[in-house]
Amino acid sequence: MTADRDYAYPHLDADALAQLSPETLTVAAGRPERGPDAPVNPEIVLSSTFMGLGGIGGGARGYGRFSNPTWEPFEAAVGQLEGSALPALLFSSGMGAVAAAMSLVPVGGVLVVPRHSYSGTLGLAQSKAERGELRLIEVDIADTEQTVAALDGADLLWVESPTNPMMEVADLPALVEAARARGVLVVVDNTFSTPLGQRPLGVGADVVVHSATKYLAGHSDVLLGVAIAATEQLRTRMHVHRTLHGAIAGPVEAWLGLRGLRTLALRVERSQASAAELARRLEEHPAVARVRYPGLPSDPGHERAAKQFTGFGSVVSIELDDAEAADAFVARLALWLPATSLGGVESTIERRRRHLAEPLTVPEGLVRLSVGIENVDDLWDDLRQALDGGR
Ligand SMILES: *Cc1c(COP(=O)(O)O)cnc(C)c1O
Repeated sequence: MTADRDYAYPHLDADALAQLSPETLTVAAGRPERGPDAPVNPEIVLSSTFMGLGGIGGGARGYGRFSNPTWEPFEAAVGQLEGSALPALLFSSGMGAVAAAMSLVPVGGVLVVPRHSYSGTLGLAQSKAERGELRLIEVDIADTEQTVAALDGADLLWVESPTNPMMEVADLPALVEAARARGVLVVVDNTFSTPLGQRPLGVGADVVVHSATKYLAGHSDVLLGVAIAATEQLRTRMHVHRTLHGAIAGPVEAWLGLRGLRTLALRVERSQASAAELARRLEEHPAVARVRYPGLPSDPGHERAAKQFTGFGSVVSIELDDAEAADAFVARLALWLPATSLGGVESTIERRRRHLAEPLTVPEGLVRLSVGIENVDDLWDDLRQALDGGR
């Protein structure tokens, strides 16, 4: 899969392919080989096993838990998008990819995580710590000094930037530099930024993971995860983990993932422009105590975000007075869907602390908005009437 020629584009050499912008790659990467009557999209291969010839040899695929041809175009495309020379590894969910990346911590090793990581990531890390598999250090990832201090003697630094749902921005280049100097692996969960917003491998991270359920697939109709490694050795370790733990994607889901990826650039462009506009309007509303969005000049992460990201993303968190005010606000919305998850074409909203697993440092009145691709004024009208106390 590291072939120096892409047979869908035989007239472009490896250098020309590498020059293509991420927006073009979302559309062009992972196409079938060019030829008379060739389909322009990959086929869905529904087979749990693959034939060998001459006894047990003669084929590389073997069994459907080891590989499936429908995974590969999506894996190739996401690997290229994240700037890796290697294809991504596809998983049945974001947590499948998170678990594979977290398995890179050796038994008895030290894992450093942001205290406001995705709740499933924190939950997995905490359960490993409780079982004595590793030691866990939780840090404020926006506090570079505190995070670097935790790296002495650590094995793996986990980064989310922005964090979910507090929207804190890490100084990723500084953290990577400090981690490399100490031989600490760096994994970045890039779900919120997407490869269009930042490419962590480019600043020296070792592994990137995504919940492809969110922006990459983009339509709230499928769960998928991906892990992208900077080196063959790390990729192999996560590949073995996938094969042995079994968190593999179904071929239909894999196909939907690539189908969704084709419009990533358009979706992100629209939803992020709307998010910026809504963040500005929300900041002016008297019922909103605080808006957390790194695109706002008033946000503490703005300066870093402006340096590191090519876009500020489509998630906005706001703080209302308390849980009651936040619940009443969400209940009054007509267009926004009251649902967890994010990154779909439809706008969704939720008070995060309704989940018992959410860290207690997330304010009770914090509401997370995942801005979709609807008309921005329709979205604003709905938010305003709900903030104003109903029609
Ligand atoms: C949703 C999410 C995950 C988990 O992904 P699933 O596809 O739900 O398993 C991991 N990280 C972040 C940042 C997420 O938002």
